[in-house]
Amino acid sequence: MTDRMIASSKICVAGYKGLVGSAIVRRLRSGGFANLLLIDRGEVDLTDQRAVRELFAREKPEYVFLAAARVGGILANSTHPADFIRDNLLIQTHVIDAAHTHGVTKLLFLGSSCIYPKDAPQPMKEEHLLTGPLEPTNEWYAIAKIAGIKLVQALRKQHGFCGISLMPTNLYGPGDNFDVTSSHVLPALLRRFDDAKRAGASELVVWGTGAPRREFLHVDDLADAAVFLMQQYDDEEIINVGVGEDLSIAELAGLVREVVGFSGEIAFDITKPDGTPRKLLDVSRLHAQGWTAKIALADGVASTYQWYLENVAQMRG
Ligand code: GDP
Repeated sequence: MTDRMIASSKICVAGYKGLVGSAIVRRLRSGGFANLLLIDRGEVDLTDQRAVRELFAREKPEYVFLAAARVGGILANSTHPADFIRDNLLIQTHVIDAAHTHGVTKLLFLGSSCIYPKDAPQPMKEEHLLTGPLEPTNEWYAIAKIAGIKLVQALRKQHGFCGISLMPTNLYGPGDNFDVTSSHVLPALLRRFDDAKRAGASELVVWGTGAPRREFLHVDDLADAAVFLMQQYDDEEIINVGVGEDLSIAELAGLVREVVGFSGEIAFDITKPDGTPRKLLDVSRLHAQGWTAKIALADGVASTYQWYLENVAQMRG
């Protein structure tokens, strides 16, 4: 077992303004960790290796949460494949390498459930990694994340580097991207149902058939799991972080309609891609560690909608 973070530990959160990074910062602060080194692309360009090396040499963080990444939904991934693979490879390679070179005590890398094969048995277990072809709509992002997992594992094997990799399921919560062209389905639907309600529309069109199934984890739950696992998980094997339950996109649309209070109909645009038919993580390894998700989907969607109304809808007027 490695050393555990204590209140005075210097903890770097790379990507602290993002959905995941900001939740990790909230969780660290509420847990009494105050010596935080917060990095965002505005301060340091993580695709610039020299800048990252200089940062680590100067600041000497002891623990690193690597939450910086180029992220986006199905449309953004398929229209900007080069950006997704390039930026993610660069960011993670630079940060992980600098963490190793500058003697970081422990690093936590965040992957994604899209690293698993398109046709992986459901629920997906950690050992299904690299057992089949990926979903083509997000393989660029997935390949980069797989390379990150392998880099962390290789450094452990070759140099005894203490790095762990978490595979979160689809995340949502305050600070999410609500842009309709680049966002993931849950924030996209919150915004689109809210727009439709304001416009008095009679119908809202959901992309695809509504049949794909997805699992959604509130980002505050993920942050809680990340701090928990940073403290007590030390293994080369990746670990899934999810709730262990999924629902169809049609069911999700029904839930969002109810939360927003839209009274029109739901229609489906089958010319839009469905993506992976099902994405549900097996969370037995996580449960065996002693952690389970706490925020129910209906409660999380309702509080995220409140956040959206107070922070995004308001600014859009
Ligand atoms: P994925 O989980 O990587 O496939 O990415 P998304 O969260 O973007 O999409 C999940 C599913 O929701 C896909 O089947 C989409 O076609 C469907 N979907 C339905 N309506 C929307 C929408 O308004 N935006 C997005 N991003 N996806 C939608």
